[in-house]
Amino acid sequence: MRDYEMVIGLEVHCELQTATKIFCGCSTKFGGAPNTHVCEVCSGMPGTLPTLNKRVVEFAVKAGLALNCEITRNNKFDRKNYFYPDLPKAYQISQLYFPICRNGHVDIKTSEGIKQIGIHEIHMEEDAGKLVHDPATGMTMVDFNRCGVPLLEIVSEPDFRSAEEVIAYLTKLRDTMQYLGVSDCKMQEGSMRADVNLSVRPRGQKEFGTRTEMKNIASFKAIERAIEYERERQIDLIEEGGTVVQETRRWDDEKEYTYAMRSKENAQDYKYFPDPDLMPLRISDEYIESIRKELPEFADAKRERYVAQFGLPEYDAEIITGATTLVDVFETATEMTGQPKDVSNWIMTDLLKLCKDEHVAVEDMKFDGRKLGTIISLVNEGKVNRKTGRKVLEKAFTEDIDPAQYIEENGLSQVSDASAIEPAIKQVLDENPKAVSEFLAGSEKNFQFLVGQSMRALRGKADPQAVRSVLTKLLDEMR
Ligand code: ADP
Ligand code: MG
Ligand code: ZN
Repeated sequence: MRDYEMVIGLEVHCELQTATKIFCGCSTKFGGAPNTHVCEVCSGMPGTLPTLNKRVVEFAVKAGLALNCEITRNNKFDRKNYFYPDLPKAYQISQLYFPICRNGHVDIKTSEGIKQIGIHEIHMEEDAGKLVHDPATGMTMVDFNRCGVPLLEIVSEPDFRSAEEVIAYLTKLRDTMQYLGVSDCKMQEGSMRADVNLSVRPRGQKEFGTRTEMKNIASFKAIERAIEYERERQIDLIEEGGTVVQETRRWDDEKEYTYAMRSKENAQDYKYFPDPDLMPLRISDEYIESIRKELPEFADAKRERYVAQFGLPEYDAEIITGATTLVDVFETATEMTGQPKDVSNWIMTDLLKLCKDEHVAVEDMKFDGRKLGTIISLVNEGKVNRKTGRKVLEKAFTEDIDPAQYIEENGLSQVSDASAIEPAIKQVLDENPKAVSEFLAGSEKNFQFLVGQSMRALRGKADPQAVRSVLTKLLDEMR
């Protein structure tokens, strides 16, 4: 068999986190009762007119600058005409001739090093509604809540050569959009959707092979599986003397295969034309520069800074910068305590474990970093020991409590006053004569045992340092 190389280009749709839709004032909120976020405009009533949401333009420019694109100064919107029950106007307002961003690129990290992926363009468009199939009745219903939710479509160059590169790119895109606050990019809720265009060619051949397109694959895992399957399918086909047909194929993640959906349309099939209801959109240099100034520090830069400035281990910095929720907690708690390494340790060991135990996705975590900052300060000041701190964190993670108040009300403060702990430790010594006499005879390890017993007698609230010094004093008196 000949050696084949795979070529992939991606079309990624991101739903924007604007409060309202792209051409009307309806809410973009995910998951409302069907057809409750709709009006005359987004349900496509005749005679209604679209009004462009400025925020969509702002978000598109932000994304474009973050992905190193040229911003188009003179924009237009175009109608993409097709009929489908989830698209009541029978056209989608999109951008074909003058997309808002062009000629960008991003660097991705793979096992073979850094690779640059070209961004062909980014355009603004509106989402369609959703068809809901009810297996019980065999009926199909339509929900227009998603109709008119703003989308960015980010079209890459055909620069990927492996599934690994595709996943690295999608991760990078998601991180970038999340850092910008432009899209939450949740694949499971459909706010990030990837269409995978894939072809194969004998290694060394210049021309691309014929591609197929797999639409809306719903998770990174599924994308990896779909790519491997489709590559094998195309190679087998060619090896058997067949030819790949340019078509749209659906990936069935349960049965693990792709099947033809329809032969691929060309742009002319959509009879695109400029939308006469919307004015051309001019973007000024000043506007672009004002947005460039607001760009946040992105994951790569942050990760490097965490390592260089705070001395975090590379791995910890990678995990924390991988989710904006963790970045928020880290930066808030670090600002409060001035102890970045402590904060990172608490996040890496305790907070991530809590997410896992409570089945909360890290990016969905709603945890205020100020609570962690307070707990760390209390531990570092010796008000509570680490074990108690961990318990308070558990409580603060699931319930809205004020850590300091909770410690106060539940009597969890650490006891470090020698006179307060001495009676309890005396009793421990009385109850463990054998351990005491062995210690006095030179068995050092018994000391640790007596510390443990004392901590237990004090129900874990004592300052271990204070317990050690009282124990040493009492044992010395017995020599
Ligand atoms: P269309 O708009 O018809 O879907 P485009 O030219 O916009 O087609 O390309 C769509 C995506 O397909 C782009 O991401 C592009 O990089 C990718 N692509 C184009 N040709 C190939 C090919 N032969 N193999 C793999 N990907 C391709
Ligand atoms: Mg396309
Ligand atoms: Zn509406």
